[in-house]
Parts: sequence; C-alpha cells; structure tokens
Amino acid sequence: MIKKISLTALFICLLLVFLSPATVWADGELAVTDSSAEMDFPMRLIFEISAGSNVDITDIRLCYVVNRMEHVQVFSEIYVGFAPSTTVTTQWVWDMRKTGGLPPGSSVDYWWQVTDAGGKEVHTVPARIEIEDNRYDWRRITEGKVTLFWYEGDNAFAEELMAAAQTALSRLAENTGAELGSPVRFYIYANSTDLRGSMIYPQEWTGGVAFTRYGIIAIGIEPNLRDVDWGKRVIAHELTHLVIHQVTFNPYSDLPTWLDEGLAMTAEGELESGFTNALARARNENKLISVRSLASPFSAYADESLLAYAQSYRLVEYLIDNYGREEMFELLNTFRQGSGYDEALEKVYGFDMDGLNTLWRASLETVAVP
Ligand SMILES: [Zn+2]
Repeated sequence: MIKKISLTALFICLLLVFLSPATVWADGELAVTDSSAEMDFPMRLIFEISAGSNVDITDIRLCYVVNRMEHVQVFSEIYVGFAPSTTVTTQWVWDMRKTGGLPPGSSVDYWWQVTDAGGKEVHTVPARIEIEDNRYDWRRITEGKVTLFWYEGDNAFAEELMAAAQTALSRLAENTGAELGSPVRFYIYANSTDLRGSMIYPQEWTGGVAFTRYGIIAIGIEPNLRDVDWGKRVIAHELTHLVIHQVTFNPYSDLPTWLDEGLAMTAEGELESGFTNALARARNENKLISVRSLASPFSAYADESLLAYAQSYRLVEYLIDNYGREEMFELLNTFRQGSGYDEALEKVYGFDMDGLNTLWRASLETVAVP
C-alpha cells in the first residue's frame, strides 16, 4: 500500500507550481524546490532533488514503487546521502546492474520525504517516470488491449504481427474462455542484437522475453519473411502465457508446466513437424514422459525439451477436444484459487495427473499410425 500524502505536503507542492523556488522558502519554511527522475536506459535511473529550509536539512528519503502485478504492493525507501545544509541538491542512482533491469514501457512512481533540524517534514506528491528505450524512434499501433511498438519495417509488417496477436487471443478465448484483462505492450526490436541491448544481462540465445507481471513482451524480429513467420508464433505463444498468468495470478500456487506451455503452444496453431516427429519417435521407442514429470520445469536438453513441448500441446488438445472449453476455464479458475495440481484436475475432470497420463496414452492407441 502506498503511504498517504499529508495535506500540508500537497499544499506545498501546489504552491511550487505557482511560485518560483526562491519565493517558496524565502520565509524559511522547509520546501522541495526541484525534483526529477531520468532514465539512462537500460542501466541507470537517476533521481534528483533540491530542497531548502531556514535550518539544516538533515534527512532525505526517496520512496518508489514499480508498477507491476503484485500480491502485496510494497514500496522501497532509500536513505539518500548528503551533507546537512540549509540548501541541498543531491541524487540517488538506481544501478540496474545490481537489481536487474526494468523493461521498456514500464513505469516507476516516486516521492520524497525531507526533514530539517527543526523537526519539520515534507512529502512530495508521487510523480511517475515512464521507462522508455529512447535509443530508437518507436512507432505504434493499437487494437483492443494490445499495443505494438516497432521502429523498423513498414506498416504492413506491424499489422501482420498485430493480426497474429489478435488471432491468438481469439483462439485462446475459443479454447479456454480466458481473455486478456489488462493491456499488453509488444516491443518489436529489429533483431536480437538490438533486443539484447535493452537488457542488463542478456543470454546469447535470447530471441524474446515476456515480462508477465508488467504486461510487456519484447521480441527481436527482422522484417523479412522467414523471421516474421517465427515472430508470429512467438507473439502468439508469449501473449498466451501472459493472459494465462493474468487469469490464474495468486500467491499460493502456479500452473503445471505442461498446462502453461501446452496452452501457449496451441495458441500458435498447428504443431510443427519437428515436434510431431519427436512425439512419434518417443511413442515408438516407448519413451514418452509422464504427465507428472511434465508438471515440473522442462529439461534443458534440446531433444527432451522438444518432446516435452510436443506432449504438452497434445495433452491440452486432448483435454479441450474431449471435455470442452467450459471445463478448461473451470480448471484455470481452480488454479487461481491456489489449488494443487492433482486437486484441480480431480475437481474438474474427476482424475489426477496419473489418471490423465493413462487416459491420454490410451487415446494415442486408438489413433491409427500411418
Ligand atoms: Zn512458453
């Protein structure tokens, strides 16, 4: 919860709008005469304050809150270092290398608390700094709750990506009843090098990042045919993760990985041949992964992870095809209430993860193998 700002502080800040700084504290009252925040993207966020009083200013604190989905809204309080004096200008630098970065399109609310030697205290009205990657000239298009920012490629390129996002949303609503609650922003970088430049500690292989709590997805997509096809799949996949995250957000439990990834995979469209081949091979060699193992994070080994994604897709498809959309929606709602994996399945379908494993494998036997 954000602290209440006292009326006195509000009044002082209103005065500041109309009067020049010198006038404000000519009578000796403690006042904040200047306050700013500037982002040096993506590394540093610099907060600066100037204040004056008839006696020494002895304490300055910066409070800030990052705007994102939280179970409990908390703000950070920073003691800012400075030499006590009647006029003070000082700054505090948030070094993102120590904390991890903020995505483009996010925002931070901040306010100051200043105290002088006479015991007088002033709070400023919260101000907002929008975190933008101003290394590029972003253009934007919006449709419904989705906004897409891009800077390279023509309008048709952006419209094609937007269409992929809208298709994924319709497909998800049709399959599960889940809909986008809060707005989403896509930042389309022109390639993965530019994307990595927006991150503090990027992985070599990073092609896209979903900041689910912020409702922000950043992807590197080159405006050429091959990359656009890949990009459309990534958009559908990550957008689905984000919607499912919004729909099931709770402090107690998460989703089994096969359900989360399976829903994201089905939103992409048909399963690609690499996945179907992996699945066919595992069936023939009797090496399918159990549903229970697929509830945990997937293997880092490429072959095994390919199979895990393929099975997740088929498991979700099996549940939707055989039991329908309402049940899938109820399953997601059950998870929102903080249910365990087996309990949620039991409640909605009448079987647990082992039961699903048996039923799904049996369903494979009835499909003719060409
Ligand atoms: Zn995924």
